[in-house]
Amino acid sequence: MGTKTMTAFHAIFLGAPGAGKGTQAKKLAGVSGCLHISTGDMLREHRSQGTELGCQAQGYMDEGKLVPDGLMVEMVVERIARPDAADAWILDGFPRTGEQALALDRAVDDSAGGITHAVFFDVPHGSLIDRLTGRRTCSQCGAIWHIKFKPTSRDEICDDCEGALVHRSDDNEAVVEQRLSAYRTQTEPVLDYYRDRGLFCEVNADQAPDAVFEDLGKVMLKEVG
Ligand code: AMP
Repeated sequence: MGTKTMTAFHAIFLGAPGAGKGTQAKKLAGVSGCLHISTGDMLREHRSQGTELGCQAQGYMDEGKLVPDGLMVEMVVERIARPDAADAWILDGFPRTGEQALALDRAVDDSAGGITHAVFFDVPHGSLIDRLTGRRTCSQCGAIWHIKFKPTSRDEICDDCEGALVHRSDDNEAVVEQRLSAYRTQTEPVLDYYRDRGLFCEVNADQAPDAVFEDLGKVMLKEVG
């Protein structure tokens, strides 16, 4: 990592499933114009198109397990190498293992501007099951809602685009438990990889989305700016 170029904005969003990384990344990308790269969304897209990667990832995702590092690293390195990703992106849901973090550093070294922000979305584990099992996603625009915490005005219809809402199959309680367990054992240790560097910052994500977004702006400017 080390010296950063003036123009690069290469942020990674870290935190448990259900911590709100996707909601915040979408919003920040919308106002800043940077590219939002969600590895979960990319994998779901591969699955819906029936690609080889989608087929390889399917079983792991359905069981709430992490897709193997080799597949993930190849997918992400290819994505961030495309011209539209050059200077400004948010990586949401990657890295999730130590091996992925090392591979990301190799791919985005100082000559490419390095990683500029590592943001940890902190939510108590007790809140996560409710947040995940009540989550609904718009099948059309990808907006994220919640039956209790962020309801739409009409049942199962997106307020933003009137698309149909879906309940992700891996947001059911049994799979959620497995995803949280994978997070604790494989992803939580990755926080330490970034914690002692100047680029790490932390947001209290146990608040309403607008309050989290306000804090996100403050900590990203204060801690790293
Ligand atoms: P997400 O939408 O980020 O919760 O991801 C959904 C699922 O995709 C996860 O439960 C994993 O099976 C898989 N996945 C997404 N990102 C990664 C990653 N960085 N490493 C391994 N598996 C991932």
